[in-house]
Amino acid sequence: MERDVVCGMEVDKSSKYKSTVNGKNYYFCSAGCKDKFDANPIKYTR
Ligand SMILES: [Zn+2]
Repeated sequence: MERDVVCGMEVDKSSKYKSTVNGKNYYFCSAGCKDKFDANPIKYTR
């Protein structure tokens, strides 16, 4: 399992909501969380 860094939920790696930043994959529970992440990835990746 991976942690959705936006809302803190655990997300399966098979989730279709995924972004890659600096070679690391981030998984999300929903399109809404992915959108928040994509809008400001630095906030969530430091
Ligand atoms: Zn989420």
